[in-house]
Amino acid sequence: MRVDAVVIGAGISGLSCGAFLAKAGRSVVVIERAERPGGYFNSFQYNGYHFDGGIKAVENAGLLLPMMQSLGLEKRVNFMKNRMYAGLEDKLFLMDSDEDISAYFDYLGNLFPDSKTGLGEVLAEMMDLTRVMEVISDMSRPLYKENPILSKLKSAAWFMKNGKRLMELLKKLKYNEVLFREFLQERIKDEELINIIDEPFFYGTPAFFGLAYPTVFRDYYYPEGGISKIPDVLTECITENGGIVKLNTEVVEIKVSNGRAVGVVTSTGQEISAGSIINAADARKLYTKLLPKETVSSDFLTRLARATVSDSVFSIFLGVDSSPEDLDHDVAHVIYVPAAAKPVDYSSPEYFETAGMEISIPCLRDRKLAPEGKTGIILNLNSTQEFSNGWGRKVSREAYESIKEKAADQVMDNFFKLYPSLRDKIEFRLVATPFTMERKTLNSGGSISGWSYHPDETFPFRDFKKMNKSILTPVKSLYQVGQWSFDPAGVPVCLITAKVAADRAQKK
Ligand SMILES: Cc1cc2nc3c(=O)[nH]c(=O)nc-3n(C[C@H](O)[C@H](O)[C@H](O)COP(=O)(O)OP(=O)(O)OC[C@H]3O[C@@H](n4cnc5c(N)ncnc54)[C@H](O)[C@@H]3O)c2cc1C
Repeated sequence: MRVDAVVIGAGISGLSCGAFLAKAGRSVVVIERAERPGGYFNSFQYNGYHFDGGIKAVENAGLLLPMMQSLGLEKRVNFMKNRMYAGLEDKLFLMDSDEDISAYFDYLGNLFPDSKTGLGEVLAEMMDLTRVMEVISDMSRPLYKENPILSKLKSAAWFMKNGKRLMELLKKLKYNEVLFREFLQERIKDEELINIIDEPFFYGTPAFFGLAYPTVFRDYYYPEGGISKIPDVLTECITENGGIVKLNTEVVEIKVSNGRAVGVVTSTGQEISAGSIINAADARKLYTKLLPKETVSSDFLTRLARATVSDSVFSIFLGVDSSPEDLDHDVAHVIYVPAAAKPVDYSSPEYFETAGMEISIPCLRDRKLAPEGKTGIILNLNSTQEFSNGWGRKVSREAYESIKEKAADQVMDNFFKLYPSLRDKIEFRLVATPFTMERKTLNSGGSISGWSYHPDETFPFRDFKKMNKSILTPVKSLYQVGQWSFDPAGVPVCLITAKVAADRAQKK
């Protein structure tokens, strides 16, 4: 079989890339080892409950909705605004506007009066970044261009309108080189307050990311029917345009000839030749398992071996015998810090005693997502495979199960501080560790954002101005897209790199 492009992995990056290629009339095969498309954009059903297994709501960032529109899919998904809350102990704060965020900071200032001035400085910088970042909401036009002439006109108009703010935004990128925690430490005296603000963020999060989050929070959407609705319509788009999404199939080898990637071999033994190969899956496995040994230099491999991966997640899926109307709070999505926060140490056996969590309740956005009179709730906690000596896995399966359940008990105790009425109403709980994440997606370490956010430990370059080059690999015609292509990654990086690679492959 010969096609224009093979895409490895049907997560959001692979599907989005495949959809643009198919829509442009290129022959494309997207190969996915799982039985369903989506990667970390997945949902599953259990006892009639709908759970989102990975991401819980998606930031638009001037990309998601324009991408859907550009592919002609905007009418197939009903995106609902997803309102985010910050939770501290037993209090909740809406994060929808500058006023909301100021109210939260006022509350923190009253709890920590000695740090009021520093808090004010952090807030002012967040607000300024919010103002400047509005430029991004309009940024998609050059990326998802409808036709070259219209696009040129629009780009010129866009720069006239936004050029000044774009320059300001570029200046703010200096915060990409400073850790968010260090930024806070320079301004805030109280260690406990720093921990509260820093708690939800990954290890090594740059200040740019931390400061931008209040803006990002306002820009989250949830698709009616659940997260899997997004990969489902992208899959439809590929197949309707003549492409193929091959499920239950793993790519086990990439064929290289004269320094150029020329095809793949699948777990079923099929060989597919292609003009371009786009890896939308783990990069470490790409270089160490899929490519022939002599293809990349030993220097490159040494640098790869030294790099570490970003955080993973510990997830609890709860079936609750309570109707959504009777919950303690009518709130679908919370970033919650349950107690006076300690500095995060993912490997410590005590980590889950105080760890913060993301709480998501799908049926509060769409009632069809739980059985009548019941509620499904998902708790996510940043975590890694290093917790408590590798979750006891080296000892035995029993040790792993027992450490996992003990961590879940500790998380539940904290969850009940915010939802006390649910203590006796849990019908079942399912628990997933960073090892589950790796097993389901093949992402190294179960990483949910690719390479480490820490500038000293990452692998790809981090220069936003050169993001379009991040798809290039040492092998010609082989591109890397998605969460392993650029750092710090997330859905916006996935969508940008997918489109850049699709454009390049399309030209061939
Ligand atoms: C709980 C959670 C919350 C998150 N919250 C946010 C958020 O708020 N904002 C944000 O921006 N991001 C968030 N993320 C991260 C975001 O979801 C991911 O970065 C993004 O979805 C990654 O997409 P991807 O397509 O690059 O990779 P993946 O989703 O990992 O997809 C890769 C696919 O490739 C397949 N695959 C791997 N190897 C092979 C092979 N050899 N052959 C065939 N198939 C293969 C895998 O099975 C998988 O389906 C979150 C993630 C999680 C888990």
